[in-house]
Amino acid sequence: MCRVAIKVVAEIISVGTELLMGQIVNTDAQYVAEKLSELGIDMLHQSVVGDNFERLNENLKTAEQRADIIITTGGLGPTDDDMTKECVCELCEKKLVLNDDVLDDIKEYFKKKNIEFTPNNEKQAKFPKDAVILKNSVGTAPGCIINARGKVFIVLPGPPRELKPMFKEYVVPYLKDKCSDVLFTKNVQVFGLGESKVEHMIKDIIRNQSNPTIATYCHPGYVTIRITSKAENEEKAKALVDPVAGEVIKIFGDSVFEVGDRSITETVAGFLIDKEITISVSESCTGGLVSDALVKVSGISSVFKLGVVSYSNEAKMNMLGVKKETLDTVGAVSRETAIQMARGVMKAGNSDIGISTTGIAGPGSDNTNKPVGLVYIALSHAEETVVEELHLNGTRNDIRQMTVLQVFNMIRKYFMDKGE
Ligand code: ATP
Repeated sequence: MCRVAIKVVAEIISVGTELLMGQIVNTDAQYVAEKLSELGIDMLHQSVVGDNFERLNENLKTAEQRADIIITTGGLGPTDDDMTKECVCELCEKKLVLNDDVLDDIKEYFKKKNIEFTPNNEKQAKFPKDAVILKNSVGTAPGCIINARGKVFIVLPGPPRELKPMFKEYVVPYLKDKCSDVLFTKNVQVFGLGESKVEHMIKDIIRNQSNPTIATYCHPGYVTIRITSKAENEEKAKALVDPVAGEVIKIFGDSVFEVGDRSITETVAGFLIDKEITISVSESCTGGLVSDALVKVSGISSVFKLGVVSYSNEAKMNMLGVKKETLDTVGAVSRETAIQMARGVMKAGNSDIGISTTGIAGPGSDNTNKPVGLVYIALSHAEETVVEELHLNGTRNDIRQMTVLQVFNMIRKYFMDKGE
């Protein structure tokens, strides 16, 4: 949500020769751009400039002619080629003075890390007297906000692990405060349909959009439909979004796995935790990715009982009770093996459900010449086992990642069909 008094335009200048040379990807700009868009702040230009005072100065001068808020990333370190703050201050005719509180914080940081404090680090504690200082909870270089020349200059560090918490904690509230309209967003997330199909199904709503606006974002396996409105207060903004979100949910029905920001993994794991449904997993082609996805969700320990990477036939037989006869006749990548793996792990883990994955992730096939991308996933529950045959495309990694998403969708569908 954000209040925008007038149309506010921001511009990002990313500073760093490494960025220009393609040695690192400009994820800071991507992150900041995404957050600005969530805040309803327009951005018309972005630029990248090397560690060079004159060229940065030129970029700042250009940016201030076309934007209200100029955000820089990078170049706040202690070395001579870090000069972003100095360059912004020169343009704004602001003197940098040593801030004792910040200096103490930096010295404390060095002490905690057992690193020697060298005099060049003092430069990171210098700010214009009237700047808003943005604390750096994970590094030494604080950022700052400088109001000058009728513009707002927001100066942020380069390392994403420093920039992101700083942006979230200090810059977002600062920008929200500057705005006067409220933005409200709802995401409807749809599994298993391509972006063009999704767009086609809601083309009339998209065509007639003004407030709220509707945008689709495609990810491997799922599409996010973002519905955003702008109004003078949250209640009014929400009242504009809700009926449209309701219409979209009705159109996509069972394909909607989430109204909100959670991934399908988080949604399904959350469901298992809420319903206290215990789970065990036996994985062949996914090699632990399903277990990993579960473990990423906090609180999963209450329901995740066992994860087995049963890659060899021997392990499938010895640990999960897959029959030798099955492996000899229809092979490891088969409906029957998937079923026996799922039942075997459910029993071994003494859990409510057992999951299995077995498939050919490529790039080569196995000795049975089954096609790359052929994957079986199975779910056992009490006396019942359901199995799905998938035909997936892409690289070895794409196939393995997509299998994981399909597993979570299978769990979702299974319990949805049961009315849970
Ligand atoms: P430090 O105090 O660590 O020197 P800094 O603010 O001076 O931080 P830079 O020296 O410009 O930042 O960059 C430090 C590191 O941060 C880079 O080596 C890179 O790993 C990362 N980084 C910098 N800019 C970006 C960016 N735009 N996107 C992603 N990573 C970045």
